[in-house]
Amino acid sequence: MKIQVFTVENIPLIKEGDDIASIICENTTIEDNDIVVIASTIVAKAEGRMFRLEDIIPGEKALTIANKHNLDARFVQAVLDRSKEVLVDYPIFLVETQNGHVCIKAGIDDSNVNTGYLADLPSNPDESAGKIGTKVEKITGKRVSVILTDTNGRAFKIGQTGIAIGVYKIHPIKNWKGQKDLFGNILEITEEAIADEIAGAANLLMGEGDGGYPVVIVRGLQFRSEESSVQEMYRSEREDIVKKGLRCLSKV
Ligand code: GDP
Ligand code: MN
Ligand code: MN
Repeated sequence: MKIQVFTVENIPLIKEGDDIASIICENTTIEDNDIVVIASTIVAKAEGRMFRLEDIIPGEKALTIANKHNLDARFVQAVLDRSKEVLVDYPIFLVETQNGHVCIKAGIDDSNVNTGYLADLPSNPDESAGKIGTKVEKITGKRVSVILTDTNGRAFKIGQTGIAIGVYKIHPIKNWKGQKDLFGNILEITEEAIADEIAGAANLLMGEGDGGYPVVIVRGLQFRSEESSVQEMYRSEREDIVKKGLRCLSKV
């Protein structure tokens, strides 16, 4: 078996209003079943989700958390504004975003953005992926999937990895339940996080620095599906015992 993973060359510095789908199609050739993997940073820039700390007035809770961390209280307020829940406020500042993604600092990013500005995650990453995906399909006449990625830490390990935060026409989870292993045993629990795996592979080429490769094409997988959502991979409130555990830690 073989897959191809390659960068799209010549992507410019993205500005508010830029049409990412057109930029991709101008700079690469798309085939049926390609998975277009896009760093959320450029989607945030194109959607104008940049903001400045100067414009934020921190409240009481932000001031308390900021003190514990020695963080800018305006930054903490920005994180709180984008969070459904603070799971842990110290020694890590871990929140669940309005969209259901659990991450440090609500995914607000200051790398690869104009000095003085911060970039938000897209507010509805599935919708953003969908808009780009349908436009790429319209331009090329090919059927694609899209994965929006961000760089995320892992709970029990050192090191960050690319993960999926939004999808278009690819189920983030591949269900192996009911299939056989090599010895004929029926698999009972295995669900493979394919969107995160693909995001991780693409991130190998994107890197985290000044490479200038926010778009990667993954070719050779047959994962295109009908409607899909990242919500399919977030555990339900009832099943999420890690979240329940975290809530027991200190909080303002
Ligand atoms: P994130 O993981 O979505 O937060 O994005 P990163 O900041 O890690 O950037 C991923 C890749 O995209 C790196 O290769 C960056 O150099 C590149 N990148 C980020 N913004 C831009 C941009 O506006 N234009 C181009 N060409 N590359 C960018
Ligand atoms: Mn980043
Ligand atoms: Mn990154």
